[in-house]
Amino acid sequence: MMNKNYFQPQAETMPYDEIKKIQDEKLVKQVRHVYNNVKYYRDLMNEKGVTPDDIKGIDDLHKLPFIKKDDLRQSYPNGLLATDIKNCVRIHSTSGTTGKRVVAFYTQNDIDMWEECCARAIVAAGGSNEDVCQVCYGYGLFTGGSGLHGGSHKVGCLTLPMSSGNTDRQIQFMMDLNATILCCTPSYAAYIGETLKEKGYKPEDNTLKAGIFGAEPWTEEMRKDIEKNLGIKAYDIYGLTEMSGPGVAFECEEQNGMHINEDHFIAEIINPDTGEVLPVGSKGELVFTSLDKEAFPLLRYRTRDICVLSREKCSCGRTFIKMTKPLGRSDDMMIIRGVNVFPSQIETVLLNNGYTPNYQIIVDRINNKDTFDINVEMRPEDFSDTPKGITAKEKELQSAMMAMLGINPKIHLVVPNSIPRSEGKAVRVIDNRKRLGINI
Ligand code: ADP
Ligand code: ZN
Repeated sequence: MMNKNYFQPQAETMPYDEIKKIQDEKLVKQVRHVYNNVKYYRDLMNEKGVTPDDIKGIDDLHKLPFIKKDDLRQSYPNGLLATDIKNCVRIHSTSGTTGKRVVAFYTQNDIDMWEECCARAIVAAGGSNEDVCQVCYGYGLFTGGSGLHGGSHKVGCLTLPMSSGNTDRQIQFMMDLNATILCCTPSYAAYIGETLKEKGYKPEDNTLKAGIFGAEPWTEEMRKDIEKNLGIKAYDIYGLTEMSGPGVAFECEEQNGMHINEDHFIAEIINPDTGEVLPVGSKGELVFTSLDKEAFPLLRYRTRDICVLSREKCSCGRTFIKMTKPLGRSDDMMIIRGVNVFPSQIETVLLNNGYTPNYQIIVDRINNKDTFDINVEMRPEDFSDTPKGITAKEKELQSAMMAMLGINPKIHLVVPNSIPRSEGKAVRVIDNRKRLGINI
């Protein structure tokens, strides 16, 4: 069934030349705002010999310097603030997945824009004011909870502000209040699905119809699994604290890439090694410029997320450019024995072979050689197997990993439920090489 509802139809379906016009105008203004109000930016631009007068539209974007996570850390906490702090109404901070947290400031307009982006995502997933939206992203400093909560209000859903954790209570409220839309990380959605099953519920026993899952990488295989276990359609949502939070991009009914809210953000793809801007369709690092942020506007922010953009016509009628699921963060990538390995590749192999997405990768360096172990929970049928049978299954999985990765991990089939579940972003990798001070 086609869903022709948009939260803001005029913006979401405007022709590209209008999008470009809006971006041109907003960029010129935003560059002035940043240059005039943020010394850190003024210095960066002066260093590069570029002034606001050089920026007449998005074709000049490449002249601006990049800004990186390190710049944010250096200017912690408020070195990049572009407005008087008394105009700000809130802060959030990153999850700190890859190091020291950074903080971002919001004015009321910034919050409104962000919540509207999340509302677009909810409507694109089939949401309306008739829905009951269960938000079990973490609330607090993390942007997940507040973002979807605000979006849910804007759509007019009945909002269940659950935050993450206490899975029994999540399930009780889901059942008692007939939740129809579930918002959380994909790893928590998988865990909720698993717990429902353990409690004897079938997918058709719940009233959920859709899920909006993001904040961490997940594979198509995991999507299928979650959809099957919860009896829903699972939509991806992408965002980062530095740009506002979730809702920078969201999936439509095609479930084939996420539309970037281009009236608020400009997306570029660059070669992460050289900084060169690549044409649409190339794989590279995603770079964002926020056009409307007042308090914490970033120009050409390097996300370190690797993906591909596409401007192909989408059957949903939205005209915003689409991004593929991030294939992983450039800093998620492990180099093991000289080979590039992404956790998402491992997840794909596991799910294709009937295993759950509950796994942990352990990397170490012993006697100058990288060790590479993967703990994987047994399938129910493996559990009663003989030790010999289990060894054979480990070998089988090892060959499948070798075919995907090009190197051999050591597989350990472990007892079901023995790998810790995550209520937020899952911890997939334990890289003990860090203790040796190795820069990985
Ligand atoms: P941190 O960088 O500390 O995790 P955030 O909570 O702001 O801070 O997370 C933003 C990052 O989360 C993104 O840069 C991206 O790497 C990841 N992310 C967010 N949404 C998705 C998604 N749908 N798919 C894959 N990765 C995602
Ligand atoms: Zn679409």
